[in-house]
Amino acid sequence: MDEPHRNFHSPWHCDILTLYPDMFPGSLGHALAGKALEKNIWSYQAYNIRDFAEDKHRSVDDTPAGGGAGMVLRADILGKALSSISTSGPKLLMSPRGKPLTQERVKELINENGCLILCGRFEGVDQRVIDYFELEEISIGDYVLSGGEIAALTLMDACIRLLPDVMGKIKSGEEESFENNLLEYPHYTRPNEWQGLKIPEVLTSGNHHLIDNWRKEQAEKITKARRPELFEKYKNIKQKP
Ligand code: SAH
Repeated sequence: MDEPHRNFHSPWHCDILTLYPDMFPGSLGHALAGKALEKNIWSYQAYNIRDFAEDKHRSVDDTPAGGGAGMVLRADILGKALSSISTSGPKLLMSPRGKPLTQERVKELINENGCLILCGRFEGVDQRVIDYFELEEISIGDYVLSGGEIAALTLMDACIRLLPDVMGKIKSGEEESFENNLLEYPHYTRPNEWQGLKIPEVLTSGNHHLIDNWRKEQAEKITKARRPELFEKYKNIKQKP
């Protein structure tokens, strides 16, 4: 992982370029992220791509060169928008063609002062913008959304919950899914018996050593069954001295 570039005195800041600035902060104005926003632990500025259009219709898209369905966000307009925002962090483009977002990348992103996020719409953005600004394409999964906004909110949510003081007393996720390449063990809480189903006895035994072992076994079992490729990674890293 890279050295932190972070200035811990200022909030983690996201500059967002979108056709729908009102979609922000959206769900991030609630719960943990919402409180953290109020406390200025993170901040954001959503820019409307349309504000950079020049013609009287404020159009931002045009038909794809070479033909085909849909519209493409224009290079000149996105270029003006991107050049006008000064950001010290990475420049991201939400894109189904991007590298899948991982917890590892999330942790790197919060060591930056923030990031710039371009949200695509229509068929996407002119390739020259991606090349010229060296945008890092990030995908949130192998499915196609109608726009990058929900993907941006997803990425931001994953980052914000890990910022210092956001989760309060909750352990900052050392045992969470994807830590050590394992999915998390199952959770239970009161009542002790529900619909005839009991909490596994070991969890009420008070023996922390046994509990830890049981949780690790469960995490391994679940990961092996659901995510064999993740389990392979876990095994390989575990074997290293
Ligand atoms: N024609 C494109 C899909 C465009 S979807 C293709 O086939 O690859 C419109 C916009 O939604 C994209 O530009 C991107 O910003 C966003 N988007 C869609 N799916 C996404 C995903 N899985 N991850 C991140 N962003 C996505």
